[in-house]
Amino acid sequence: MKIEIEKNKCIGCGVCASVCPEGIEMINGVATIKNADADCLQNAAEVCPVNIIKIN
Ligand code: SF4
Repeated sequence: MKIEIEKNKCIGCGVCASVCPEGIEMINGVATIKNADADCLQNAAEVCPVNIIKIN
């Protein structure tokens, strides 16, 4: 599984990190991947309001 966050479009809402704290952390107001193997990343991708978390 490959995960990418289009950081330049992140609005810093933090919802992804709330849904998936094992996989994503907020650094300087931007979502950053902490653990690309976290099972909850799929959920984080689904809740992102601007749909910038891409899983392939
Ligand atoms: S949910 Fe989307 S917009 Fe919000 S912090 Fe995460 S990546 Fe950024």
